[in-house]
Amino acid sequence: MIGEKLKEIREQTGLNKKDFASHIGIKYTTYNNYETGDREPSSDFLIMISQKLQDAINAQIVAEMWSANLYLSMSYFFAAKGYEGFASWMKAQAHEESDHADVLAQYVMKRGGQAKVGAVDAVPQEWASPLDVFEHVYKHECHVSELIDKLVDVASAEKDKASQDFLWGFVREQVEEEATVQGILDKIKLGGDVALYHLDIQLGARK
Ligand code: MG
Repeated sequence: MIGEKLKEIREQTGLNKKDFASHIGIKYTTYNNYETGDREPSSDFLIMISQKLQDAINAQIVAEMWSANLYLSMSYFFAAKGYEGFASWMKAQAHEESDHADVLAQYVMKRGGQAKVGAVDAVPQEWASPLDVFEHVYKHECHVSELIDKLVDVASAEKDKASQDFLWGFVREQVEEEATVQGILDKIKLGGDVALYHLDIQLGARK
C-alpha cells in the first residue's frame, strides 16, 4: 500500500528509483525495499498530509487570522470607549487567535506539507454597544466551531487519524471559547451597566 503510493509519487516526479532515493535522502536499497513492500518506511520523510487537508488547514489559518484581526479591532473599539479591561481582554484574545494560526501552520509543516497565509478580508470596526460586541464574538466563535468541525470531517474523509487527533484539540478549545463568551454575555444581560463596570475590571485582569 505505502509502496504503491511511493511508486505513484516517484513516477509523478519522473525520477527513477535511484535518483528518487537520493532526492529524498535515503539509500537506494532502502528505498527499493519500501517500494516493493519488503520494508515499512519510517514516516518522517514522507508527506503525511493530503493536499485536500493541507488546503483546508491553510484556509483555517486565514480564518484564524481574520479572528485575530476582528478581536484586535474590538480591542481598539473598547479602548476608544474607555473600557480598558475589555480592550486588554480582546487584545489577549487576538494574540490567542494568531497563535492558533501558527499552531495550524506548524502542524502542516511537521506533516511535510506547505503552510500558507492567504488574503485576509477586512474586519468590522464599529459596534452599537459592549453587548453588541460580545454577541458578535459569540456568533463568530460558533461559526469557527463549525469550521473546525468541517476540518475534522475532511481529516476523517482522508482517513488521516493523526490530523483528526490534532484537530480534536481545536474542537475542545471551541467548547471553552463558546462557554467563556456565553458567560460574559449572561453577566452583561443580567446586570446591565453595573455588570459592565465590574466585568471591565475583571476581564482586564486576564494575562
Ligand atoms: Mg481560534
